[in-house]
Amino acid sequence: MEYMTTQNLDEALNVLGEWKERAKVVAGGTNVIPNMRARLVSPDIIINLCDLEDLKGIVEEEGIVRIGALATMHEIASSRIIADHCPILASAARQVGNPLTRNRATVGGNLADASPAADTAPPLLALEARIHAAGSGRGGREIPLDQFFLGPRETALEPDEIITHITFAKPKDPLSGSHTKLGLRNAMAISVVSIATMLETVGETCTKARVALGAVAPKPIRAYRMEEMLEGKTIDEELLEECSEAIKKEISPISDIRASAEYRTLVTSLLFRRTIREALGREKV
Ligand SMILES: Cc1cc2nc3c(=O)[nH]c(=O)nc-3n(C[C@H](O)[C@H](O)[C@H](O)COP(=O)(O)OP(=O)(O)OC[C@H]3O[C@@H](n4cnc5c(N)ncnc54)[C@H](O)[C@@H]3O)c2cc1C
Repeated sequence: MEYMTTQNLDEALNVLGEWKERAKVVAGGTNVIPNMRARLVSPDIIINLCDLEDLKGIVEEEGIVRIGALATMHEIASSRIIADHCPILASAARQVGNPLTRNRATVGGNLADASPAADTAPPLLALEARIHAAGSGRGGREIPLDQFFLGPRETALEPDEIITHITFAKPKDPLSGSHTKLGLRNAMAISVVSIATMLETVGETCTKARVALGAVAPKPIRAYRMEEMLEGKTIDEELLEECSEAIKKEISPISDIRASAEYRTLVTSLLFRRTIREALGREKV
């Protein structure tokens, strides 16, 4: 197996463009290395992205938050910019794995791996994030995150593309969001269900709702029907009751070693109601 490392994005893209499916790009390696050890992947070349400065950093400029693909969970969880503008993302990053994992695991790797339970996906979906990808010999392109996940471990990335960064507009009211992750324990747990919401309200009326879910479908999803049901309405307990029944039809969970499909359905309905109440400042989840 060949190995390359570089500080030059174009060089990495050229090599990836040459080897395509036979190459594997590696960021933190927390998915790739265990998968290689288990012989689930056996690339002919490893392209290490770790030294690419262009893929690092978290900045906020003119109302847009930009997170480099190599930003680690620890960097996201401890960033002032993230805490100030999108605490739901900080909450998700803080709950990934353990401190060792969070020091290595990157947001780009979390999204590109496309696990249905990828923890940064629901908050980034609720924030309407966009993926910025670069390919060899051509410019970059943007992919809205809700078009990025195609299925379990399948994304809209071409084999010669690398995620460079992720952007989203700073929410009007960062505190009008909520995130919750249910695992089988409080650390080192893959999500059984995770939910992120962002709401905008004028007076008592919900003018915009974004609801995203993890681990309850073949890919992280936006619950568009729930958003429609909430928008333009006053969110009272009656509406919440109606929505928490309707959300059961929006999801398609599986039974696995962590939980049964029935349990996931019940808990999604319950947590949905609680996250919306928290986003409205009525309850602490
Ligand atoms: C002990 C342990 C606990 C974990 N706990 C959690 C958890 O609680 N929640 C959770 O969501 N995940 C968890 N994970 C999974 C993993 O840590 C995360 O998905 C992590 O964010 C992956 O990032 P990485 O940088 O390590 O990715 P890598 O392993 O380097 O790469 C993962 C995939 O993404 C691709 N890739 C990486 N960077 C890019 C890029 N910039 N452009 C294009 N493709 C790219 C790689 O080719 C590979 O296919 C855990 C893993 C371990 C080992």
